Amino acid sequence: MKNWEQDVKKVLFHQEEIAIRIKELAGAINEYYGDKELVLVGILKGSAIFFADLARELSCPVMFDFMCVSSYGSSAVSSGMVDIKKDLTTDIAGKNVLLIEDILDTGNTLHELLPILSERKPASLKLCCFLNKPDRRQKPIQADFTGFYIPDEFVVGYGLDYNENYRNLPYVGILKRNVYEDCE
Ligand code: 5GP
Ligand code: MG
Repeated sequence: MKNWEQDVKKVLFHQEEIAIRIKELAGAINEYYGDKELVLVGILKGSAIFFADLARELSCPVMFDFMCVSSYGSSAVSSGMVDIKKDLTTDIAGKNVLLIEDILDTGNTLHELLPILSERKPASLKLCCFLNKPDRRQKPIQADFTGFYIPDEFVVGYGLDYNENYRNLPYVGILKRNVYEDCE
C-alpha cells in the first residue's frame, strides 16, 4: 500500500499549530462580525477541512453553502479561468458572505469569482483563506482573514490535494518536486 507521507518533503504546519491558528482566526472573525448572521461559502474541495474546523470556532450565527469552481485541474499551473461546476443554493442578496478558500495563490480564480458573487448583491463579501502565497500573486486580490502566509512552494494536506490525493493528511506539507514533475 502506498505511504503518501513519503511524498512530503517538509511539514510546514503541524496539526496542533493549525488548531491554535484557527482559534485565533475565528477570534478575529467573531470580533469583526459580532452577532451578525453570516453565510460561510466554502470553495470545494480544498477548503472542506478548514471550513469544518473554522466553522466550529465561530460564535456568530452561520449558514453553510458551497461552490465548486475549477482552477488547477490536475496540473500545478493556474489557468486563469473559472468554471462554476456547482453553484450556491442560497440567495446571498442582502447577506453577509464570508468566502472560505484553501489557498490564495495567483489570485486568478478569485479575480473571476468575486465579481460574480458581488453581482448578487450581498450586504458584504469578505475573503478568508487558510494559506496565502503573496509572492505568486498576479491579480490584486487580498484576503481579509489569512491563516498562514507561505513561500512559493506547492503544498498538500489539510484539504489541499495533488491529483485528488493527500487531502486527508492532518498537516500541511511541501510536496516533493519529483511527484508532480514526473507526471507532466
Ligand atoms: P489561484 O487562482 O489563486 O492561483 O489558485 C487558487 C487555487 O489553486 C487554490 O484554491 C488551490 O486549489 C490551487 N492551489 C494553488 N496553490 C496550491 C498549492 O500550493 N497546493 C495545492 N494543493 N493547491 C494549490
Ligand atoms: Mg481551491
